[in-house]
Amino acid sequence: MQQAILYEKHDENIVKCLLCSHYCEIKPGQVGTCLLRKNIDGELFTYSYGASTGFAIDPIEKKPFYHFKPGSKVLSFGTPGCNFKCLNCQNWQMSHAKKDDILRQAHVLRQAQDDILRQAQDDNAIENLHIEYSPSFIADLAIEQGVDGIAYTYSEPTIFFEYARDTILECRKKYPNVDLFHLFISNGFMSKETIDLIAKENLISAINIDLKFMNDKKYRKICNSSLQPVLDNIKRFQDLSDSIHMEIINLVIPEENDSVDDINALVDFIVSVNPEIPLHFSRFHPSNKMTDKPATDLNTLLKAKEIAESKGLKYVYIGNTNLPGVENTYCPNCKKLLIERSRYSTKVKKSLGKILRQAHVLRQAQDDIVNGRRIMDNGQFTDSREPKTDNGKQGFKAQLSAKNGICLNCEHNINIRL
Ligand code: SF4
Repeated sequence: MQQAILYEKHDENIVKCLLCSHYCEIKPGQVGTCLLRKNIDGELFTYSYGASTGFAIDPIEKKPFYHFKPGSKVLSFGTPGCNFKCLNCQNWQMSHAKKDDILRQAHVLRQAQDDILRQAQDDNAIENLHIEYSPSFIADLAIEQGVDGIAYTYSEPTIFFEYARDTILECRKKYPNVDLFHLFISNGFMSKETIDLIAKENLISAINIDLKFMNDKKYRKICNSSLQPVLDNIKRFQDLSDSIHMEIINLVIPEENDSVDDINALVDFIVSVNPEIPLHFSRFHPSNKMTDKPATDLNTLLKAKEIAESKGLKYVYIGNTNLPGVENTYCPNCKKLLIERSRYSTKVKKSLGKILRQAHVLRQAQDDIVNGRRIMDNGQFTDSREPKTDNGKQGFKAQLSAKNGICLNCEHNINIRL
């Protein structure tokens, strides 16, 4: 158990959790909606700290991220609990864990699996789940396994935010010369305060947000949540897109969000934010408490992709199927194939070039970076521009690192981080 961050103390020892948009007001002895934050004598504590359900090495495409470090490997982990209660949750054993039904399943490295299995046989409360995979343990594991980054996933990283944050900070402290990136796979329901802290501490490099419905009633009925905070947060992350790459996923569920109107509303919103945001339509398969529906019709997914592209979205994908070609990345300008994917096999084609993340450094000083000029792999300058910000080193570096793909066939900029 660890003291939480981001909460306010109110009268009568009531605390208000500021971590996600539920903003739970929690009386002494009670827990928040996620079941993992408890008010003890007017202080808020989190039970998810150190309680990873296990670890897996995944291709980044599995998260899914198609426009961030394609072909890289990530160490994935999550903890029990969630601030949503989705009827169709595919990780419901983890995310809907309760005091008497914690069943933990994960691919685990080292002795972690034994520890987890032993713990799973203990039918005591979440309070007793104290496995303690410390941030230091995870940092070591990432280095030992030679991954490129760490994905905070499976359940919702917001509800284990302190654990994720400490892991990120520990990686930087313990391995300052290793450039590990950190990714959130999220329902997008975190609070503004959490996003502000993520930005202030430059915690993550990319986020995939699950935009489930464009209908608030569906959010409430199916997920025990609401729509508007998710939309607001997508806009907030767009404002941070110089330093945090964003992709969006939408699980297309028969009769819940698969109509043409549903797809139109979703796509119109994303286009209004930024038509360059990659969108993943994902195929639904019956699970958890939503077993009465069939898997999504493949033609529905193809139609959704067609609608999205016709409305101007530049990178639209279909996941969870064996349909050919729907995971590939093409240049939106000349249609040249840039990345070929089939499930988790990824081939970056020579047609996709890289604008160097850091322009030429002259006289060993950041100030001497040529004014933000983009340089292609062949060393040619493609244009010259002044930096948008002069906020110093951090801002400049972030600006240069956000998007750095280019189609070498037509020199069109690609919203991709290589
Ligand atoms: S993380 Fe969200 S659901 Fe959990 S206690 Fe805080 S506000 Fe409530």
